Amino acid sequence: MPDGQTLTARLYERGQAKDGRWLFDVGLVVWRNGPKREHAEPAEYRVWIPAEQARRVNGADYSQVKTTRRQPPAPKPWPRPRPADRWKVEVVRRQPATDFQWVTVHRADCSLGAGGEEIDDEQKARERMAAEGGRGCAACGTDMSLRTAPDADSGR
Ligand SMILES: [Zn+2]
Repeated sequence: MPDGQTLTARLYERGQAKDGRWLFDVGLVVWRNGPKREHAEPAEYRVWIPAEQARRVNGADYSQVKTTRRQPPAPKPWPRPRPADRWKVEVVRRQPATDFQWVTVHRADCSLGAGGEEIDDEQKARERMAAEGGRGCAACGTDMSLRTAPDADSGR
């Protein structure tokens, strides 16, 4: 007790607080007056106290006391990038004396592949990547997200 007294209480429940500390729900039997002051009857006072304020009673069995352990917070899901709606075509190399060029298709917000043509149509971005000399970028994931299904380009 705050004044240094030791009282015997009944332990009802052990619970863990948000910060991991343990709290005990205890019942202390005290006197309480009825409607008339001349009459006193036993009554239980229930309170949650910090576990460090309590001591075991020798010989008492606490194995059946309800114990509520807090679950550790669930891990946050891995952040998924929002789907791209713009892409940029980086010219990696041009073949001399022809129109042919090797290109890498990036998401418009990719830190690699500055400049180049911008595309706001996913199908066109897929076509640029699927065309000869085209490839996706592993950094921004277009190598997977814009990859054409194997059966879709079997007609080439
Ligand atoms: Zn990229």
